[in-house]
Amino acid sequence: MGRFIEGEERGQLSLMPTSIDEYVEEDNVVRVVDAFIDELDLQALGFAGVAPAATGRPAYHPSTLLKIYLYGYLNRVQSSRRLEREAKRNVEVMWLTRRLAPDFKTIADFRKNNGTAIQSVCAKFVEICAHIGLFKHAVTAIDGAKFKAVNSRDRNFTRGKLKRRMEQVAESINRYLEALDTADLEEGERAGEKVARLAARIAAMRARLAELKELEQRVQEEPDKQISLTDPDARAMATNMRGSSVVGYNVQTAVDTEHHLIVAHQVTNVVVDRTLLAPMAAKAKEAMRAEKLDAFADRGYYSGEQLLACEEIGVATWVPKPRTSNARAAGRFDKEDFEYLPEQNAYRCPAGEILPYRFTGVHDDQNVHIYFTNVCGECALKSCCTTGKERRVRRWEHEHVIDSTRDRLKTTPDAMNIRRRTVEHPFGTMKAWMGHTHFLTKGIEKVSTEMSSCVLAYNLKRMISMLGVKPLMATIRA
Ligand code: SF4
Repeated sequence: MGRFIEGEERGQLSLMPTSIDEYVEEDNVVRVVDAFIDELDLQALGFAGVAPAATGRPAYHPSTLLKIYLYGYLNRVQSSRRLEREAKRNVEVMWLTRRLAPDFKTIADFRKNNGTAIQSVCAKFVEICAHIGLFKHAVTAIDGAKFKAVNSRDRNFTRGKLKRRMEQVAESINRYLEALDTADLEEGERAGEKVARLAARIAAMRARLAELKELEQRVQEEPDKQISLTDPDARAMATNMRGSSVVGYNVQTAVDTEHHLIVAHQVTNVVVDRTLLAPMAAKAKEAMRAEKLDAFADRGYYSGEQLLACEEIGVATWVPKPRTSNARAAGRFDKEDFEYLPEQNAYRCPAGEILPYRFTGVHDDQNVHIYFTNVCGECALKSCCTTGKERRVRRWEHEHVIDSTRDRLKTTPDAMNIRRRTVEHPFGTMKAWMGHTHFLTKGIEKVSTEMSSCVLAYNLKRMISMLGVKPLMATIRA
């Protein structure tokens, strides 16, 4: 072979290490997995089968299966069949399980039957991080990402999609009917075959149309007027890429800005983020054991009600307002150009006039205070301000939360950069680990278990890179 590094002869006798422990280095990640799971009170976390059954064949202890499972997520081996194979050939898994090799069905059933408990293990790890004082500065970035479900786009239906499909099928039926009319005029054996073929196609299309009509009925019965046939909990969602969508789940995470650990997560099938800020902030605050929390989020989360809910639970928010002003788009003054004067409960307009409070009305189920002045008619700036008789400014009764969010953003110009560099990276990493493919399981409960395992693996790796294997093991055991 010339000047190459050469391997041993396959028949060469050698002295192998005497114990399997010698194959696993002292700073191997599996040692952390082992230490972490051994320290857990699996019974309290809700795992089934912690106490052995009095009769029947002995079962595997849940800790063995949990170790295999967590090892799989740390090493991008999520499927139960592949984990079974690893348990038979991978020395790290052999060490972890003490050479036990459960079959794939046992591994899959463990995941299926202990979903809530596995999710609690993820929360338990964050609890350890909070316990050692990692979250002294309770600052998080909240964001969501769309993850694909086991449901193709062809098996997801909305009213619009069904309408389009039915129109296409109806068009096809008409085309075949016309072709059938022409074929009827022809004579001979081949014409007979053609008629039979067209008649079969028309029958198939009519059956398809009937199926679509039945689906339309089912779609109508759904609260959000949408159904997914393979994974009923999955929903069609728009992604960041313009014009594209996935059928899947909207996974929310709150990531601490200092250590980049995912402190809270939630799998939802809510299509937009607008209602998710306060629930995620509350989860993050609880996980970080913080009295007060600072939360950064993008403009997709902007909602007056959510900002108010955050303020009420002690969460200060940095969320930019979406640019939806019709006045600004038409080249006129926006509400931002009017200064609120709290002492007078009035606004000052760009022309320097005072717009006093006039009355309170109800707009979109919210109490709104109305302000205007009577001098707009003589104003030189009127064409830049209003097309009506006078410019009226509306102020929501809780508008102070909007003002304080805006003021905070003004004093923290870097807020959205902090958000982006904190929260987008974990999503990218987890998607890469999952192989840019869909979840393996169906239904929001099981998908939540899958996601929790992925989050736990992410946090574990993050802590290992921050502390190192041995110090982390010592922390876990302390
Ligand atoms: S139109 Fe009325 S509100 Fe607008 S700038 Fe003139 S005075 Fe002020």
